[in-house]
Amino acid sequence: MLVIMKNDATKAQVEAVIAEIERLGYRGLPIPGAQRTAVCIVGNEHEVDDSRILPLDGVKETIRVTRPYKLVSRETRPQPTVITVGEVTIGGGRPVVMAGPCAVESEEQTLAIARIVKELGAQVFRAGAFKPRSSPYTFQGLGEAGLKILAKVRRETGLPVVTEATDPLNIEMVEQYADIIQIGARNMQNYSLLRRAGRCRKPVLLKRGMAATIEELLMSAEYIASEGNPSVILCERGIRTFSDNTRNTLDLSAIPSIKEVSHLPVIVDPSHAAGRREYVIALSRGAIAVGADGLLVEVHHDPAHALSDGRQSLYPEQLAELMKDVNAMTRVAGGAR
Ligand code: PEP
Ligand code: MN
Repeated sequence: MLVIMKNDATKAQVEAVIAEIERLGYRGLPIPGAQRTAVCIVGNEHEVDDSRILPLDGVKETIRVTRPYKLVSRETRPQPTVITVGEVTIGGGRPVVMAGPCAVESEEQTLAIARIVKELGAQVFRAGAFKPRSSPYTFQGLGEAGLKILAKVRRETGLPVVTEATDPLNIEMVEQYADIIQIGARNMQNYSLLRRAGRCRKPVLLKRGMAATIEELLMSAEYIASEGNPSVILCERGIRTFSDNTRNTLDLSAIPSIKEVSHLPVIVDPSHAAGRREYVIALSRGAIAVGADGLLVEVHHDPAHALSDGRQSLYPEQLAELMKDVNAMTRVAGGAR
């Protein structure tokens, strides 16, 4: 349930509403907005009886939130969430391109690719230092040494960096170095990791699990938001289907579906969806056309020797083409959608 406060409600009146919600045995989370302040009631298993809330000073009305996810639902917050990372804004406007190699392999490799990414106009650098690999015998990432390289990338290029935390044990370290904390597809339902990410002060990029429904993705985002972190960027990265032509099947319908029910920004990772670089530009165009707030793409200056995901990593000249397409499509759409 959502308690809508009157426009002139005072801070003390909002606090009194939260205290009453707590007396009823639930939690009350304030949702400040440009138009109105609301308090979202969470923790109730059944419908909340609002007879003790409606008479409180400053309360305008109560609204039932019908979805199982509350804080990330459009019923709770009709306007899109816009997340700011340095000078980059994600959501509600120009699509953002996050690009870089699958993994930090060495300082030389990472800096070389970061310079290309910067020069071609992508706004965020991506690379994993902790790699959740399907095989325990493949490259698992450089760990903290990799994070230090990413800090150097930020110093040298000014690009904010997004990098993955794979475990509640390494998220604190990742938070110190990253501008955006990535939670990968394999961890979308790692609830202790999600809760811990909810206590971070940095935005979280949450990828859709390879067999997860939209509702499950949004429930995972709710875990993060319910711990106090409202800055969640959702990422469609392809799901498992019977089709084995591509690594995964990019579910483009996820973007309008999510936008219908949630205010969170949604970006698309065409690289892990396709598994092959030949399809990445076409899928990127599709993603922007259906309203994605951005792209997360893998690029490598020497993909033949990449330690992971070389087959799906764009050559730099392909990233240049992708940037041109995204910019042209944004111009056609008038810069904001
Ligand atoms: C990645 O972004 O490098 C990654 C491992 O992606 P996913 O979690 O989508 O497989
Ligand atoms: Mn990868």
